[in-house]
Amino acid sequence: MNELTQNIFSDQNKNLNFVLKKSSTSISKILLKSLNGIEISEDEGTSLFKAKNKDDVNAIYLTAKHLCRLVNKDKVTFVVNRNINFTNVCHMGCKFCNFAKRMKDKTSEWLDLHEIVYRSQEAWDRGASEVCIQGGLHPKMDGEYYFDIVKAIKSKLPDMHIHAFSPFEIWYGSSKTRMSYKSFLSELRKMGLGSIPGTAAEILDTEIRKKLTKNKLSTEKWVEIIKTAHSVGLKSSATIMYGHIDSAENWSSHISLLREIQKETGGFTELVPLSFVYEDSPLYTQNQDIVRKGPTEEEVNKMHSVSRIMLHGFIDNIQVSWPKLGSKRAQELLNMGVNDLGGTLMNESISRAAGAKNGQEITAREISDIIRDANLTPARRNTLYEIKEVFENHNPIDIPPLVERNGFDPLSFLNT
Ligand code: SF4
Repeated sequence: MNELTQNIFSDQNKNLNFVLKKSSTSISKILLKSLNGIEISEDEGTSLFKAKNKDDVNAIYLTAKHLCRLVNKDKVTFVVNRNINFTNVCHMGCKFCNFAKRMKDKTSEWLDLHEIVYRSQEAWDRGASEVCIQGGLHPKMDGEYYFDIVKAIKSKLPDMHIHAFSPFEIWYGSSKTRMSYKSFLSELRKMGLGSIPGTAAEILDTEIRKKLTKNKLSTEKWVEIIKTAHSVGLKSSATIMYGHIDSAENWSSHISLLREIQKETGGFTELVPLSFVYEDSPLYTQNQDIVRKGPTEEEVNKMHSVSRIMLHGFIDNIQVSWPKLGSKRAQELLNMGVNDLGGTLMNESISRAAGAKNGQEITAREISDIIRDANLTPARRNTLYEIKEVFENHNPIDIPPLVERNGFDPLSFLNT
């Protein structure tokens, strides 16, 4: 830690003491518990989410920042990766999703193995250590296609980490192949799958899921698939999608459930809060009277801070999603409990399809600048959060963004 950082930390401790003294007794009691390494309860988490008083809210942010620095010092991580969405065809009808298309839609897409490997190679050549692969649940797709994707990439790029297939896709692939979750996940792991995204979690509450996803993948199934993945040696991320028809109670209960799973399996690498993007989402356009336009700024801040506080000592990586929030907000959240900026993505279509303006690509150099401008130190990690390079006094190599190739625009789908 350099002198500048040490000064920042000591100023931060003074501020924290000052702010805690100004906050209400009930909130400072909860925050002091977490600062003393004591787990806070689900109800206490709800109280933090519901805090309105300005001094209380400031104390929550500063506590989260303090806990984050305790664990991660002045480092903020990112991974060089590429998102590959191999199909947008999906008939599951989740109400919040505007990514899914019907087979007959003009903008429906299907990437064959050749194209998936081509994009993976392109990512590798541009410094990626990971490809993140997810797709819709295409009704004509064989369950074996999940195996074929992993085998095809690994045969060309044995050192590429494949972070792929949400619990919904694992559920789909298992039922298509008539395999148990355990056999299906074990096979994928043997073939070279490295980890899975913990997406499709939305809010782990039956009543909310009925409204969002018709409860096709229930909370119980999501939990079972995640625990099974962890049990066969596949780590996963964890997510929460918030700001629609949910409440502070739902958020706290969701985070508590993730914490319980983590105590049992230790398989989560990070939590990625995903704010609901309402524009063009059927959930919003069909129910404007009851569905919110995503979380407020304060709710976004609190989601990252309270997650840090509730998960302290259990899941110590809190990632901000720059495709959802943009780089300016992502940078602000580095002072509210966030220690990871996620991946460079190289092209990202799911958030864009639902109306987010930011998803596509951010280069390692640009991520690095965002971190450095917040007086923190950028560090490149791998998918499992092992630090690979710290950019103390140098910058990542500047790579130009992806461009159109041979008449095929890899980003053309994003403009639809
Ligand atoms: S969220 Fe996933 S499973 Fe649901 S409709 Fe969209 S692509 Fe299909």
